[in-house]
Amino acid sequence: MSDIVIEAANVSKWYGTFRALTDVNLTVRKGERIVICGPSGSGKSTLIRCFNRLEAHQAGEITVNGMRLHSKMRNVTEVRKNVGMVFQHFNLFPHMTVLMNCMAAPMWIKGVPEAQARKTALQFLERVRIPEQANKYPAQLSGGQQQRVAIARSLCMEPSVMLFDEPTSSLDPEMVAEVLETMSSLARDGMTMVCVTHEMGFARAVADRVIFMDAGQVVEEAAPDNFFNNPRHERTKFFLSQILKH
Ligand code: ADP
Ligand code: MG
Repeated sequence: MSDIVIEAANVSKWYGTFRALTDVNLTVRKGERIVICGPSGSGKSTLIRCFNRLEAHQAGEITVNGMRLHSKMRNVTEVRKNVGMVFQHFNLFPHMTVLMNCMAAPMWIKGVPEAQARKTALQFLERVRIPEQANKYPAQLSGGQQQRVAIARSLCMEPSVMLFDEPTSSLDPEMVAEVLETMSSLARDGMTMVCVTHEMGFARAVADRVIFMDAGQVVEEAAPDNFFNNPRHERTKFFLSQILKH
C-alpha cells in the first residue's frame, strides 16, 4: 500500500480569470509534517482548501488517500471525513457547547452513536487539555481555548491528515504558544500535518519540509535547516528577511 496521503500534480486554479495556483506539485506522505509559508495572497489557503475540496482546481490532479478529486465526484464527504481542517478564525458552531461541537460531525456524518461520540469528544478535549470547558459555549472561551477546541473537533473524526490554515494568526500573542504546543504534540504523536503558518520557530522544530509559495507557485521546498540557512531563491530570501525582522 502506498504511504502517500496527498498528491498534487501540476495543479492549477483560477478564480474567474485570475490564476491563483500555477502547476503546483506536492506530495505528502504518512507521518510527514509540512509547513507552507509565503506572502499574503500567494495561494497558500487556496492550495490546502483544494485538498479537501472546499475549492475546486481546474487543471492537474489531486489525490487524497487514493481518491482522485474531480468535478464529477459524488463522495466529497468521504474525502472530508479523512481530512481535518483548522482555520484562522476557529469556525466553531456558536450555538453549540464545546462538547457538541466535538460530537456533531462524528454523529451526523459518520453515524457514530451518541455515547461513543461523547466519549471520543471528552478524550480529545483532554488531549488538548481543556476537558473542563466541555459544557461552555465558544464565546465563553479565550481565542487559544477556542482554537484548541477546533483542533479537538477535527481530531474526533480521526482524520488521516490535518490541514491548518494560519491557526495562530488571529490569536493574541500570549495564546499563540498554547496552540503551537498542541500542534507540536500532535506532530510528536505522528499525525500527518500540512500547516500554513508563519511561525518559523514551529517550522524549524516540527517540519520535515518547508514549502515557500509566491504568486501561486511553489518557489522553494527544503528541509528546515536548508530553508532557513540556505534559501536558494531571491524571493525566499526576501520573504525570510521580512518575516525574521519581526
Ligand atoms: P494566501 O492564503 O496565500 O494569503 P489565498 O489562497 O487566500 O492566498 O489567495 C490567493 C489569491 O487568490 C489572492 O490573490 C486572493 O485575492 C485570490 N482569491 C482567494 N479567494 C478568492 C475568491 N474566492 N475569489 C476570487 N479571488 C480569490
Ligand atoms: Mg490564507
